[in-house]
Amino acid sequence: MNRTELIEELRHIVGPHSVIHRPEDLLTYDADGCVMDTHDPHVVVVPSTTEQIATVVKLAARAGMPIVPRGAGTGLSGGATPMSGGIVVSTARMDKILEVDTRNSRVRVQPGVINFELSQYLKPYGYQFAPDPSSQKACTVGGNIANNSGGPHCLKYGITASHVLGVQVVLPSGETIWTGDGTPSTMGYDLTGVLTGSEGTIGLVTEAWLKLTRLPEAVRVVLALFPDIASSSATVSQIVASGLLPAALEIMDRLAIKAVNDMYKLGLPEAAGAALLIEVDGVEDGLDELLTEIVAICERNGALEVRPARNAAEQNQVWAARKNAFGAMGRLAPTYYLVDTVVPRTCLPYTLDQVGYIAKNFDLPIANVFHAGDGNLHPLILFDRRNRSQNQRALEAATEVMRVSIEQGGVISGEHGIGVEKQDYMTLLFSTDDLAAMASLHQSFDPTDLFNPGKVFPKGKGCGELAALRRAGVQWSDLKTGGVPAVLSS
Ligand SMILES: Cc1cc2nc3c(=O)[nH]c(=O)nc-3n(C[C@H](O)[C@H](O)[C@H](O)COP(=O)(O)OP(=O)(O)OC[C@H]3O[C@@H](n4cnc5c(N)ncnc54)[C@H](O)[C@@H]3O)c2cc1C
Repeated sequence: MNRTELIEELRHIVGPHSVIHRPEDLLTYDADGCVMDTHDPHVVVVPSTTEQIATVVKLAARAGMPIVPRGAGTGLSGGATPMSGGIVVSTARMDKILEVDTRNSRVRVQPGVINFELSQYLKPYGYQFAPDPSSQKACTVGGNIANNSGGPHCLKYGITASHVLGVQVVLPSGETIWTGDGTPSTMGYDLTGVLTGSEGTIGLVTEAWLKLTRLPEAVRVVLALFPDIASSSATVSQIVASGLLPAALEIMDRLAIKAVNDMYKLGLPEAAGAALLIEVDGVEDGLDELLTEIVAICERNGALEVRPARNAAEQNQVWAARKNAFGAMGRLAPTYYLVDTVVPRTCLPYTLDQVGYIAKNFDLPIANVFHAGDGNLHPLILFDRRNRSQNQRALEAATEVMRVSIEQGGVISGEHGIGVEKQDYMTLLFSTDDLAAMASLHQSFDPTDLFNPGKVFPKGKGCGELAALRRAGVQWSDLKTGGVPAVLSS
């Protein structure tokens, strides 16, 4: 089937206005938020129904064209980037909130619903969708599920996986299944768990039952300013170790303070080395006492100043600064490379120290804005993408951050997924057997590698090969030191 025939058939399935194919229009879809690597798709479709998606998937299988699911494209690991072209399936038109069922604490939605809009919609009912990535004003629920996303409030409420009760997915075979009926209990294999975090590689989410979380009765927000990032991050470990559970513990370092200060009129002293944003929520009774205990820990750890937000408007102002801090980096440099890793909370001070050395070694400024309560690091390497040397140094600095994080007992992704950005680092964390077990699972859903190929698994190793490695008992170390094992060359 040639491209013209493919476009014609797609127009027939989704309607002529829902097929994007002109080269200039395809540019919008050549990457997600990770712009280090861009690839144009052959064509983009914007379906309105699950049935249309199922028919598109069957056509793609016949045409031998990859399917790349796409929500809002805010991902930061290249997950929605069409590495080998193919058909990008945008969920932008599937943005309906279908059913709010407060008596069973659940809501049924289409995948293109914007995270923030869902919580706004639920507010009058007294509920929210708790996972709140900082990109929540743009990112979709489908993308949240596919990446198992986190957010500032996931410290207390848990990441996306804790809030998905069941999903409807179109499989690479073109079949449509539900993995759960929206009740909290599951029987048999937990397919909802398998699909959540699978980065669009084994199923395209077309509907979901999500858990509703009650809005808290009261909220308090304070900003504690510290002389340096080490004392602020040590404070975070102590707060959690003392058995107190804030709703959020977020840190911005000196450079980040500089970026947000003007933009949000925060009036923070730029001499401060770090700002720790603390939110506590729950019933009104006892909330001030909880906050007093936390503030006392901050003061014992050398906080220079503690600024409470006096009303809802001030709380919103502080949160706007935190959640838009990445965008504010544009004031400091044309491009940032955001590295997403996790270390045990107690290792934050040392790891952040190392990030400081990495910035010096590679001669690039690095700002830090992160979900400290989860031990989730987000060094933002600032550079100019048009400068080749800076580009290369940014990549090398990111590798160093990952190396240090692993060395500290951490992992290479806290919430942004593996995509293409981290795929080659998977071997640092997983054995051949681990990866091959994942590959076997992938193969059972997608034997022809139709959905989002070239993601998650290390480059150059198809899932079939990985599964074969497992059967042959070959280890990664054999691959690196020896030649190509027979099982791969055959
Ligand atoms: C400024 C900024 C701040 C961010 N902050 C956070 C944060 O605090 N926490 C966090 O976790 N992430 C954060 N992110 C990363 C990103 O926003 C999240 O990963 C988000 O969940 C992606 O949603 P999306 O709709 O943009 O998905 P996309 O980027 O379009 O896609 C992400 C992945 O999901 C797959 N996918 C999308 N829709 C579907 C579907 N319906 N079915 C199957 N697969 C699908 C894609 O193929 C891709 O692999 C941030 C990003 C930015 C730019």
